[in-house]
Amino acid sequence: MARRRLRVAVLYPRVMNLYGDRGNVMALQARAAARDVDLEVDSIEIGDGWAPDETDIVLIGGGQDREQRRVQADLHARSRALQDFRDADGVILAVCGGYQLFGRSYRDNHGGVLRGAGVFDMVSIHPGPRIQRCVGNVVALWEGDTLVGFENHGGRSYLNEGTIPLAEVVVGFGNNGGDGLEGARIRNAFGTYLHGALLPKNPRFADRLLQLALQRRYGENELVPLSDAAEIRAHAETLHRSLRGRR
Ligand code: GLN
Repeated sequence: MARRRLRVAVLYPRVMNLYGDRGNVMALQARAAARDVDLEVDSIEIGDGWAPDETDIVLIGGGQDREQRRVQADLHARSRALQDFRDADGVILAVCGGYQLFGRSYRDNHGGVLRGAGVFDMVSIHPGPRIQRCVGNVVALWEGDTLVGFENHGGRSYLNEGTIPLAEVVVGFGNNGGDGLEGARIRNAFGTYLHGALLPKNPRFADRLLQLALQRRYGENELVPLSDAAEIRAHAETLHRSLRGRR
């Protein structure tokens, strides 16, 4: 079979990258290579061009409010293109600060409202600098499995009716520490508060993103399974530590 190719656009990697978010790109690259798929990475910084038709996966990592304010206008200007990409079943992974900015709006720690890309029908609100931040390990139930990761955010996200959560919180705060929900999903777009990085420790979820992208581009449904000994161990250790910390 001819070597297949996927293209990943990473938005603002110099500004939006916290707690190992860069590892998400590396995990996708390694898992794609193991299936004879070349993963090409385009870094899209403020003002850079972007070719949605040639893109299979869009990634954006976390950033503090200051960084979010820096990228907001550029990101908002791409709203239409990102929503069209979502509606064309493009694969999206948005983490924490990036996730907040992929919603409708984010009211930041100074009370200023940042308009988001509107990929997810949700709003995020920072209750102010004196309120407790949502910090710590997270375990969430996802499709009969668990997602594990680390969260650190002041903003709380609220899904509007009809928006599907990605997972259910077992340990941690997730979207807002109140409704037990973590992340959001619409079509092939996924948002989450989990850093850590997320994909190296959650190989099933990483494969889900790859598989959706390969299906869309090449009509391929099955991924050859990998042995994943190290990944499964990393997942299990994080799970263990998070559950033990709960007692
Ligand atoms: N700035 C956001 C908050 O604190 C997101 C932080 C992050 O991406 N970790 O709510």
